[in-house]
Amino acid sequence: MATNWGSLLQNEQQLEELARQAVDRALAEGVLLRTSQEPSSSEVVSYAPFTLFPSLVPSALLEQAYAVQMDFNLLVDAVSQNAAFLEQTLSSTIKQDDFTARLFDIHKQVLKEGIAQTVFLGLNRSDYMFQRSTDGSPALKQIEINTISASFGGLASRTPAVHRHVLSVLSKTKEAGKILSNNPSKGLALGIAKAWELYGSTNALVLLIAQEKERNIFDQRAIENELLARDGQEIAVVYFRDGYMPRQYSLQNWEARLLLERSCAAKCPDIATQLAGTKKVQQELSRPGMLEMLLPGQPEAVARLRATFAGLYSLDMGEEGDQAIAKALAAPSRFVLKPQREGGGNNLYGEEMVQALKQLKDSEERASYILMEKIEPEPFENCLLRPGSPAQVVQCISELGIFGVYVRQEKTLVMNKHVGHLLRTKAIEHADGGVAAGVAVLDNPYPV
Ligand code: ADP
Ligand code: MG
Repeated sequence: MATNWGSLLQNEQQLEELARQAVDRALAEGVLLRTSQEPSSSEVVSYAPFTLFPSLVPSALLEQAYAVQMDFNLLVDAVSQNAAFLEQTLSSTIKQDDFTARLFDIHKQVLKEGIAQTVFLGLNRSDYMFQRSTDGSPALKQIEINTISASFGGLASRTPAVHRHVLSVLSKTKEAGKILSNNPSKGLALGIAKAWELYGSTNALVLLIAQEKERNIFDQRAIENELLARDGQEIAVVYFRDGYMPRQYSLQNWEARLLLERSCAAKCPDIATQLAGTKKVQQELSRPGMLEMLLPGQPEAVARLRATFAGLYSLDMGEEGDQAIAKALAAPSRFVLKPQREGGGNNLYGEEMVQALKQLKDSEERASYILMEKIEPEPFENCLLRPGSPAQVVQCISELGIFGVYVRQEKTLVMNKHVGHLLRTKAIEHADGGVAAGVAVLDNPYPV
């Protein structure tokens, strides 16, 4: 992708001055993170890393990503309600992956006891990269969908003002006007409020489950601040910003998760929806016929969804898995090996992937992974700003996320919408990792 910031990125002195202005504006707008030295304290905070300029994104791909979001909401909701599909899809994986198995045990137990909750709330974020193609027109390809603790909707609501400011300082008023407004935190809060309303108890609370050491607190506060504080004890909605990684669970936490799952509060997500967000489910959804089975009578939605799927391959024991492994070993740079993990930094690429595949080849353990085609976007230049580092002009690639919200009461879908976007940009030398992992930085799409 060509950038029209080309000459601006060459002028070092101007960049430094612009960076100072941008950082001050980011701080003033509340684009904040707690520091890694003091992750539990708001006494000393800094700005969340971001790009000096917005990155160019083709309007057609932005529109496509927005247009398919309601379909993804429907799909996740359909998967979460299809116990047979979840059981079959995850059967090999749960034998090898303890974390997924524990989640699945809770799912089975509440199914057996009868699901107490009647209101279901989904707040997710579907992530994409722009695969370059030989004819020059990039294609939107999904990286994954996050069904638990999808973050940065709060900070993404604050970054457009920063990039508008940078462009205004450069007297680029017309360009500044092209930065899209974005307010995912408002939309996410409206979803929570709707689920709370349908729960139907005026004194009930919303419980936000957060990590003890949470650098990204201001992202959560942005959503909290959209909700009215109320008195009372009963919990109507449980919103997880925690609980997506094994290390976030002690034995006591597992018991608490089961307790919450048994309650009639609307969980965001409930266990089935968290399982619907696993990489194994993503891979099985790409099998021919699966989307048609889950979304019967909706061929247009199925076509929109399928158009965003990259190559996804099962590594279950058997011929299909053997062939996938052989393909990856023959061309390692074209694939990514993914375990059932969230939070960044878990995937294996290149030589590491080759070593892991050779080791896993003859072991049942390989069923806890999936193989994915590696998306190769066209790199472009931007300047990355991080606390403690000088402004750096580097070759970058971006990842676009769209936030989706849905609310279901029993069998009736009451809300289904998209509520905004997140663009994250990272230097090309990093294969993996998001903003929280210290790799990517916040950005805004500049539609072209
Ligand atoms: P996590 O749940 O840990 O966020 P992801 O599947 O989103 O796992 O992968 C983490 C990061 O790795 C992504 O943000 C992206 O930068 C990179 N990545 C993942 N899958 C691919 C892929 N198929 N092609 C290129 N990069 C990928
Ligand atoms: Mg991710």
